[in-house]
Amino acid sequence: MNKPILLSTPHMGDRELEFVKAAFDTNWIAPVGPHIDAFEQEFCQVTGAGYAAAVSSGTASLHLALQLVGVESGDEVFCSTLTFVATANPITYLGAKPVFIDSDRTSWNMSPELLQSALEHRAQIGKLPKAVVLVHLYGQSADIDPILKVCDQYDLPLIEDAAEALGATYKGHSPGTFGRIGIYSFNGNKIITTSGGGMLVANDPQLIAKARFLATQARDPAPHYQHAEIGYNYRLSNVLAGIGRGQLLVLSERVAARRRNFEIYASALANLPGIKFMPEADYGQATRWLTCLTIDAEAFGANREQIRIALAAKQIETRPVWKPLHLQPVFAECECIGGAVAEDLFVHGLCLPSGSNLTDEDLERVISGIVEIHYKNKGLSKL
Ligand SMILES: *Cc1c(COP(=O)(O)O)cnc(C)c1O
Repeated sequence: MNKPILLSTPHMGDRELEFVKAAFDTNWIAPVGPHIDAFEQEFCQVTGAGYAAAVSSGTASLHLALQLVGVESGDEVFCSTLTFVATANPITYLGAKPVFIDSDRTSWNMSPELLQSALEHRAQIGKLPKAVVLVHLYGQSADIDPILKVCDQYDLPLIEDAAEALGATYKGHSPGTFGRIGIYSFNGNKIITTSGGGMLVANDPQLIAKARFLATQARDPAPHYQHAEIGYNYRLSNVLAGIGRGQLLVLSERVAARRRNFEIYASALANLPGIKFMPEADYGQATRWLTCLTIDAEAFGANREQIRIALAAKQIETRPVWKPLHLQPVFAECECIGGAVAEDLFVHGLCLPSGSNLTDEDLERVISGIVEIHYKNKGLSKL
């Protein structure tokens, strides 16, 4: 029996346990402590962010971010449609409604042209959204400059969901640090992990102070427990922040390993008919958090789902590209501007095993699995 090859699994370095042990030795087993402060500072050094607040998940950081920019019940928020549901769920936590925006083909991320024309139209009819949530998908930055420009033009706060894009660059800087607020995730499948966790960053220290306040039950300074606002229990554990400090030390190695996976897949598979890899936009470097490709079924000899099922039978886990949120039953009532690009990427797109801890044998098994499907379905012999 072959060992299972999974999509993206945690990959610890050499130092995480030391940091965790230090937390135990000093009894900082709490959602406050020196590892949290250090993790926030070190995260700012790595990303170039001004200020950071460590929280319990990427989803929690998005919830706080939306509240911090003033999203309220009845508001609309523009949001990328090609993404994980966690990007949009917090919009609904606040009683607001997402309006989805399609991707472009060069980055698979929100189309700046589409956003601009949608906002022009909304300005004309006096129905601007309250904020824009921009996703940097699969480790690749969206084209931030034109998006930021149009947000500024209409005085709309930009929230960047960089959950999948830690370690990527946009014109030399970290995606997540351009908008009013950026968020990151340290879930178990992300490029680095604390098992679960998130980070909220901003250049305005008051936003970060307010995020910390809301994340600790909105407790006012007083000797007794005093509250004038509704808050949340969203802080990261000091133990988990210790894991995060260790993981930050190996971030660049993790990026290099994932990019290497991509290079190996691409050099072995890109010449097969019907296979195209997710393009890398020329304004930056993607982390290739997941290696994604699209399949033209006719040319290749099998469609995305047939490939996924055939690989699953060989204990190889792959996943379809995110199902666009405007196609999700839970968002059936929501407006979507465009949508054909995201739908096409969903129907044809597949994510390959991409962990930074995959071995060359693992990669070879995935590659030969895909090659085999092609030759078998096309009735060709490999020789
Ligand atoms: C993982 C992810 C999130 C949510 O992060 P969690 O830490 O799992 O809550 C949000 N957006 C995107 C794009 C993600 O991939």
